[in-house]
Amino acid sequence: RAKAAGRNHMAFYEPEMQASAQEELSLAQDLQRAWDLGQFAIYAQSQVNGVGQIIGAELLLRWFHPERGAVAPDQFIPLAEESGLILRLGEWVLERACTTLAALSATHPQLTLSVNMSQLQFRQDDFVERMASLLERTGVPAERLVLEVTESLLIAAVDDTAERMTQLVNLGLRFAIDDFGTGYSSFAYLKRLPLYELKIDKSFVKDTPGSASDTAIVQSILSVAHHLGLAVVAEGVETQAQAAFLAANHCQGLQGYWFGRPMPLAQWLSELPTGDAGLLDATDSSDQPK
Ligand code: C2E
Ligand code: MG
Ligand code: MG
Ligand code: MG
Repeated sequence: RAKAAGRNHMAFYEPEMQASAQEELSLAQDLQRAWDLGQFAIYAQSQVNGVGQIIGAELLLRWFHPERGAVAPDQFIPLAEESGLILRLGEWVLERACTTLAALSATHPQLTLSVNMSQLQFRQDDFVERMASLLERTGVPAERLVLEVTESLLIAAVDDTAERMTQLVNLGLRFAIDDFGTGYSSFAYLKRLPLYELKIDKSFVKDTPGSASDTAIVQSILSVAHHLGLAVVAEGVETQAQAAFLAANHCQGLQGYWFGRPMPLAQWLSELPTGDAGLLDATDSSDQPK
């Protein structure tokens, strides 16, 4: 009978569901103390141009749990959003982005830093004022800071979003759509929102250049972006073949393990090529980060 099957089904899944609910609860409890215990770190992953020169980095949060080790952002960011901790974390990342850009302004004035935005953070009543005062306090040209937003953030309350984005763009900030192509974006938003950049999701990059459909999708995104005057960064570039394919198709920004894994921000800074070396083709110099 269906009922018996249902019961078996329940009996099979229930302990697992309890375990994962319990695990999530304990993770959420640990997360509450993680800030005070200084368990978070900011990592940076290089973004390079078609010839391998570093053009900037994306900042990525890390949580080092004393027993579990590194907890993936995909696991703890949703919990941090539930508890509101994401506001503190997000503010910290933005602040570090600006102080880092300020520190780099003498030696590397061309570099940009990209920061992932939580919906909660973006929708704070005073977010625009906070951004304005942070930029003023640190003296950073806003153009060097890229805010990465997801398609789901964009489509929630689109009128409100467009207005807020415009206010931030008026400060000089730039917006990128993260994981482009995986959400519900439409051409209408591309036209309507003050965007600077599209980030091609790594799921489309993964099987290029071998897969005909993924190759077509990536080329189409590049074509739309070029026609709309948007910059493009491809994420998840893991192989030389992918990098060559993207560069051949005029993708200006490349990010992925092929060029460098995310690393602690301080290490990324210390490994930056200095002076004119930063402008050299990476293939010309043996000590360039790969
Ligand atoms: P994302 O913004 O799409 O970041 C790109 C993710 O791809 C990062 O995962 C990065 O480590 C990973 N990645 C980079 N290169 C490669 C590659 O070659 N191959 C593969 N397979 N993966 C690659 P990570 O660091 O685990 O972050 C996951 C997500 O967590 C991010 O996705 C972002 O949505 C979110 N996140 C990270 N830091 C923050 C933050 O400060 N604030 C907010 N709100 N979200 C964050
Ligand atoms: Mg991102
Ligand atoms: Mg992404
Ligand atoms: Mg992602």
